[in-house]
Amino acid sequence: MWTDSAISRAADQARSPAVYGYVLLVLVIIFLGYAVSLRLHPYRPCRSCDGKGRKEGSFFRRAYSDCTRCNGKGRTLRAGVRIFSKRDR
Ligand SMILES: [Zn+2]
Repeated sequence: MWTDSAISRAADQARSPAVYGYVLLVLVIIFLGYAVSLRLHPYRPCRSCDGKGRKEGSFFRRAYSDCTRCNGKGRTLRAGVRIFSKRDR
């Protein structure tokens, strides 16, 4: 039966430090995993040019210029890289 005391006891358990500690631990592990992943693979393909690093002309099909978004590199830094390292673009 759900009495008032049972509900308040369940609420106390949900608010207990052990649960917070566990959630915090999981968050720290995810955070560290993401940080390691950023260190190993800091780039992703440029969204603007699809990783090609160039923009083709729309009329002269063989003409192209460097992608302005990634400066022709075809890659951009993943979110958070600048927080974890001082790598330049
Ligand atoms: Zn690009």
